[in-house]
Amino acid sequence: MNKKILVVAAHPDDELLGVGATIVHHIKSNDKCFALILGEGITSRYGKRDLADVSNIEDLHKDTLKAAKVIGYEKVYFENFPDNRFDSIDLLDVVKIVEKYIEEVKPDIIYTHHSGDLNVDHRKTYEAVLTASRPIESYCVKEIYSFETVSSSEWNFEYINSFKPNYFVDVTFTLDKKLNSVSFYKSEMRNFPHPRSIENLEVTAKKWGSVIGTKYAEAFEVVRIIK
Ligand SMILES: [Zn+2]
Repeated sequence: MNKKILVVAAHPDDELLGVGATIVHHIKSNDKCFALILGEGITSRYGKRDLADVSNIEDLHKDTLKAAKVIGYEKVYFENFPDNRFDSIDLLDVVKIVEKYIEEVKPDIIYTHHSGDLNVDHRKTYEAVLTASRPIESYCVKEIYSFETVSSSEWNFEYINSFKPNYFVDVTFTLDKKLNSVSFYKSEMRNFPHPRSIENLEVTAKKWGSVIGTKYAEAFEVVRIIK
């Protein structure tokens, strides 16, 4: 109750795919939820970054804000790190940005990517979050969780660092809102059997629901809890 939640995502739509229905849950509990989206999410679609049509970035941000309104996010912060090229940036530059927003929001809980995702931006985001939220005496983020991002978490075919959830949220009554909001991302969503399809999001929620005995669930890995 009355907690502050920060979702740190690499790309527009990541703030919904693995955590959207849980965010609706938080909002129902009077928590305030914010999203920080670090990358612009567009330019990797072009042969060269400088050939990209930047008006597409603005359109994508508009989709993000429409989707965020359905979910109930208080605010979405946009940074414009280059899509799928976070490995070309000094990690410290990403850390500084994440630190700036942690300082501003002062979140009790952070949700971010999984360290083993296939997508390099996701992995760098995870590293930056962990670095930016290292526990210090004056202030520290009490809880950090990794969410699953379909089309990245399962596409890293590696056993050692695969997504192995140990924290689940029953989203039986909030999944609808997530699926409605995701539909605003017309440029990001695909048709089934692509993992980033409405059908797969429902199937994934059903699968995690079956693990914990509910109709639908979202699944997380606990990174850190400090009580
Ligand atoms: Zn992503």
